[in-house]
Amino acid sequence: MAGAAMAEMSARAMRETAATEPPLASDVVIAGCGVAGLYAAINLPRALRVTMICKEDLESCDSMLAQGGICVMRDYDDYDSWFDDTMRAGHGECRAESVDTMIWSSRDVIADLVRLGVEFDRTSDGGYDYTREGAHSRPRILHHADVTGKEITTKLLAQVRKLSNVGVHEYVCMDDLLVENGACVGIVAHGEHGKRSELRTRDVILATGGVGGLYERSTNFPCLTGDGCRVAAAHGVTLDHMDYVQIHPTSLYTDKPGRAFLISESCRGEGAVLLNAAGERFCDELQSRDVVSKAIYAQMESEGSRYVRLSFERVSEDVICGHFANIWQHCLEEGYDIRREPIPVVPAQHYLMGGIHVGAHSETTLPHLYAAGETSCNGVHGANRLASNSLLESLVFSRLAARDIVRERHAA
Ligand SMILES: Cc1cc2nc3c(=O)[nH]c(=O)nc-3n(C[C@H](O)[C@H](O)[C@H](O)COP(=O)(O)OP(=O)(O)OC[C@H]3O[C@@H](n4cnc5c(N)ncnc54)[C@H](O)[C@@H]3O)c2cc1C
Repeated sequence: MAGAAMAEMSARAMRETAATEPPLASDVVIAGCGVAGLYAAINLPRALRVTMICKEDLESCDSMLAQGGICVMRDYDDYDSWFDDTMRAGHGECRAESVDTMIWSSRDVIADLVRLGVEFDRTSDGGYDYTREGAHSRPRILHHADVTGKEITTKLLAQVRKLSNVGVHEYVCMDDLLVENGACVGIVAHGEHGKRSELRTRDVILATGGVGGLYERSTNFPCLTGDGCRVAAAHGVTLDHMDYVQIHPTSLYTDKPGRAFLISESCRGEGAVLLNAAGERFCDELQSRDVVSKAIYAQMESEGSRYVRLSFERVSEDVICGHFANIWQHCLEEGYDIRREPIPVVPAQHYLMGGIHVGAHSETTLPHLYAAGETSCNGVHGANRLASNSLLESLVFSRLAARDIVRERHAA
């Protein structure tokens, strides 16, 4: 049998194994297998039976796409400056106590990721290679080349695979919540062949990601269509700021349909500059995302163009071929060599700052229902997310959900 046919057969076999039906009863159901869902599962006690589901395959989550990196408090002096950067980018609308929780938890979460096998790039002297993105007043972002999300998500997934109390089920889509006597008691879901099941449980964590699939031009996976928010709202669960949607300034321009390819903000952090049709800079590229996106739209309108250009002329070839290897390769496939020429870029929908309202323990307004990651709104990002805060925020607040589930069980 030809290699390609063998690979196709074994991929199909793997999918059939993964798409086993989830059990109808468990202690915790987690909808979503991105970093938020996976880290919650890792932080739940092994004595609990945990069912995880995802809408498509495990690869199809935004966590796998994160390029730039993940913030960490480099030293205690960094607290105030990171706090101020986050509040400033969020236009003062961030919940201060959530920002505080995220920053103080960052060192511990990063140490835990490293313990779980995640590798971050280091400098020649062995220290971490911190990078910088827009609206950060200093470099405080850890990265794994420009595929940080894939590195973190695959390592977390490998850990989850080792847990005998956790079952992971692909191609199982949550359609509704089960609510009885004013509390969440499970979810309604359907599998790949349309079979509808009621999955009963004591606690549910919604970690269903963002809303990019609802937009024509987005950096998100098309399957991410705000399902968690929709089902929660249908049961009267409070949502916050569903109109706070972040538009990323730089996705690679193409007239082909499908997911927009992100050109990470850390490219601008490392020296890439935006140019108009005349080859001139027209804004400060390191302002917050909303400000840079507006400047690009204004430039496109005044020129009547469909894109502006991003030049890597000031970025060394070593950095392009090392730190930005994934972006460089992707652009080559699209016919652009970023070492030699500017590339066409255009803003695209990127992130939902709003979502299901949660309190300090990621609890929603419906008992036994938790939300974490991009689908939730704990107020960290205010009206505009600071770059590289979201992977961290997802991890910090999904762990808090897991801890609250344990605390509540002990208290009952
Ligand atoms: C291109 C790109 C680059 C990014 N770069 C960075 C970065 O450098 N740093 C940073 O901090 N952040 C970055 N982000 C943002 C960050 O990746 C996400 O906010 C974060 O990964 C969200 O994690 P999550 O677990 O909440 O959701 P996701 O990882 O998106 O996972 C959502 C999960 O929910 C499942 N799901 C959805 N609906 C249903 C349903 N109805 N039933 C069952 N399952 C369902 C999906 O199948 C999926 O498994 C980037 C985002 C993108 C798109």
